[in-house]
Amino acid sequence: MPRRPLLILIACVAIVRPVAAQRTEPLPAIDSAAMWGAFTALAADSMEGRRTGARGGTAARALLIRRLEQAGLRPLGASFEHRFPVAGRDSSVREGINVLAYLPGADTSRVLVVSAHYDHVGVRSGAIYNGADDNASGTAALLAIAASFVAHPPRHSIVFAFFDGEEMGLLGARAFVGAPSVPLERIAANVNLDMIARLDKNELYAAGAAPWPFFRPLLEATAMQAPVTLRLGHDTDEKGPGENWTRQSDQGAFHAQGIPWVYFGVEDHPDYHRATDDADKVNPGRYIGAVRTIADFVRRLDASLDAVVPPRTR
Ligand SMILES: [Zn+2]
Repeated sequence: MPRRPLLILIACVAIVRPVAAQRTEPLPAIDSAAMWGAFTALAADSMEGRRTGARGGTAARALLIRRLEQAGLRPLGASFEHRFPVAGRDSSVREGINVLAYLPGADTSRVLVVSAHYDHVGVRSGAIYNGADDNASGTAALLAIAASFVAHPPRHSIVFAFFDGEEMGLLGARAFVGAPSVPLERIAANVNLDMIARLDKNELYAAGAAPWPFFRPLLEATAMQAPVTLRLGHDTDEKGPGENWTRQSDQGAFHAQGIPWVYFGVEDHPDYHRATDDADKVNPGRYIGAVRTIADFVRRLDASLDAVVPPRTR
């Protein structure tokens, strides 16, 4: 029996070590050069502001599909393109087209939907609204995060959703949850990226922990290792309705269906929804820091999903 305490000690060390190693694990690798290339291409004048139904929107979609294929991602369904009808005041726009990629995990029972809208408002009075922050930034980040998951496969299946028609009222996201390719009860959570590049104060916000408190510990752990300041908020009406971003981007469509979500973005800046929202206003290092932070959160969420997000009961 004298050796027993020693064995217990060894056992403890063996158990403790992997946990300690997890805490100091490097942030997920992101191909920042490829991401910056996609970001500047999406925010270029040649994309004509990526308006839904317009030539620029088609060009942006072609870039997305090319990059997804290069990264080895498969479409969700028969094609990357998921069309949905648009009915509104502007009769020149009849349909929008989401781009949906799917990466199966080891466990396919529940799915994460990581999303960013690729559309913007197009050309107004002769000025091209490049929408660099809104939302070439989230779109290019989503491509980079998708590619990083191909290299290091997820535990749970992930849909990478590039939504169209967000600027017309979250139309692509609403179409997705309205006629889902994945049954809604299998969607464990939505992580939405919209305006993540303009970290003028090196601050990124994560909203969603107020309505979905089980995300808070994961977000706090992410913040501890983040290369940017990650703040939680903008998800209650406490400071007035303008402060609550719940319905201000595509996560609103998931919220309406009772699907938990986390939204990442920055506070409004002077170039928000102006023709001056250009790529040259973005600090590349801070933008890349924001993307690594978000990628780290998605990794943590995937790894601990079953412990964190309760199954849906319908
Ligand atoms: Zn946006």
